[in-house]
Amino acid sequence: MECRHLDDLYELYLLGALGVSERSEIHEHLRADCPYCTERLRQAALTVYFLALPDRKVRVPQPLKAQVLRRLIKK
Ligand SMILES: [Zn+2]
Repeated sequence: MECRHLDDLYELYLLGALGVSERSEIHEHLRADCPYCTERLRQAALTVYFLALPDRKVRVPQPLKAQVLRRLIKK
């Protein structure tokens, strides 16, 4: 299944920053047990976790952080 276009969305998905249609697309896709996306979601969970840490010993990649912030501001 072609699902690489969902790649950029998992962090936003976990942060609850996606629109309804994107969110339901991800729901539906994860229900299909795609191994790639299951792994991707696991990585995204780690990223979001580090993003939320109050002290920044772990660096979140800047482009990702910028992307997440942009998305959040747009809502
Ligand atoms: Zn997938």
